[in-house]
Amino acid sequence: MYTVAQLIGGVWGAGGEGGELVVHDPADGSPVSSVPVATADEVGKAVEAARGAAAEWAATAPADRAAALHRAADAVAAVADELARATTAEMGKPLADARGGVEAGIGTLRQYAELAPVRGGRTLHGGTHALDFMVPQPRGVVAAITPWNDPVAVSCGLLGAALVTGNVVLHKPSERAPATGWLLARALDSALPPGVLSLLTGGPEVGAALAAQEVDVVAHVGSTATGRAIAAAAARTGAKVLLENGGSDPLVVDGDVDPVWAAGQAAVGAFANAGQICVAVERIYVHRDVAEDFTQALVERAERLRVGPGGDPATELGPLVDRRHRDHVHGQVTAAVAEGARVRTGGTLPDGPGAFYPATVVTDCRHDMTLVREETFGPVAAIVVVDSFSEALRCAADSPYGLAATVLTGSMSHAQRAWRELPVGTVKINAVFGGAPGGAAHPRRASGHGFGYGPELLDEFTATKAVHIEAPGGGHW
Ligand code: NAD
Repeated sequence: MYTVAQLIGGVWGAGGEGGELVVHDPADGSPVSSVPVATADEVGKAVEAARGAAAEWAATAPADRAAALHRAADAVAAVADELARATTAEMGKPLADARGGVEAGIGTLRQYAELAPVRGGRTLHGGTHALDFMVPQPRGVVAAITPWNDPVAVSCGLLGAALVTGNVVLHKPSERAPATGWLLARALDSALPPGVLSLLTGGPEVGAALAAQEVDVVAHVGSTATGRAIAAAAARTGAKVLLENGGSDPLVVDGDVDPVWAAGQAAVGAFANAGQICVAVERIYVHRDVAEDFTQALVERAERLRVGPGGDPATELGPLVDRRHRDHVHGQVTAAVAEGARVRTGGTLPDGPGAFYPATVVTDCRHDMTLVREETFGPVAAIVVVDSFSEALRCAADSPYGLAATVLTGSMSHAQRAWRELPVGTVKINAVFGGAPGGAAHPRRASGHGFGYGPELLDEFTATKAVHIEAPGGGHW
């Protein structure tokens, strides 16, 4: 069992007067982590202490900050196995996936360590007697509030980019993966000056207390509802808000593709990490010409998945994060059935311990059902049959969310229409996952705003200053 500690003002084990929270393994319900809960007063003190460390870290040479981040990446790499095991124990994902998330996080830390010191400003062409330039500066105090579904990869991105650009950071990891956040913070802190990184633990109320503080940036990766609450809180303090929130990503299956291959793509998109990926395939618009063959092949893929605890190397489908989330997923499926949808496989609550939910394929869905319109975040493929590519594109675009979309088509003109017309941050043609390293996109509408990834995230954590210098008295230097 992990005994998590907070890090406030450079002191491990500080605070926690708000009580204790216990995280249970979603595979069998056994306790995994015991976690202190910060009080609002502790959150305020942590922000004050962090502010005290901000000026010195901001004045540290960029190359020195980058060297510290490289050492931090080494420290994370040294505990990579433990981080992966903690992730699996707390939120259930298969161990190999958890290890992949840790490796991605380490890679991101190293990328930011390389990129940050070579970023520059701009020199401007003013009068010959003057010096004009634009220079990025650290924003100051950053609150980073993160989710559980890929905790190390997501946290490394936000924390690495914020720290290397000269900000001090207060990290509030998810209450569903706090030991993972604690192990990560211990590794990062070992390579940083005291007070530059703080760790606050607890539930939504701790996140809310942090977002209400006088910080300079609140960066949140998580649900849309939380993102909106954070944006409202930050509107009162004037903090900059960076939101990477929920999605309901469509998959369009055109009438000219091999339905068995398309089903393989759909299965990976809908069932990987038990559907708990922000860019998981949530709704499928399949052309009538291939719909039945596609559905049949997807059902076969769903039924072939090996279900088990994330710690078992044979497992392909682990449990959901907890039973509360399972109720949410199952509630959407049963509501769709009540409205006329048909479960082709899965869709039932299994007996036994844990928060397992089967890979589920639901047909006869309509575009207006909650299962189709809202984020499910579970291993559920909701299928809507359409009569044309235009209808599929129209439905795909008609969503409160705008995170990503995938289109499977053999037609270059359809591919071109898709990337031009879909109002989302990322469009993928003929592959549900993948994409070049360093890719970054602007999510749209309910999915958030600002760059949460890629080199552009470094810009999000700096503020550009324009400088104009003249000699006194209008003369020359
Ligand atoms: P969540 O928003 O419930 O929780 C995320 C963090 O916010 C946690 O640390 C939580 O304690 C905190 N929080 C909760 N309520 C708060 C409040 N009122 N004020 C401040 N902080 C608060 O999200 P989650 O359930 O942990 O994560 C799943 C969601 O995250 C899904 O919607 C998923 O799509 C999204 N997500 C998005 C991306 C992306 O890049 N767009 C990546 C991963 C996950």
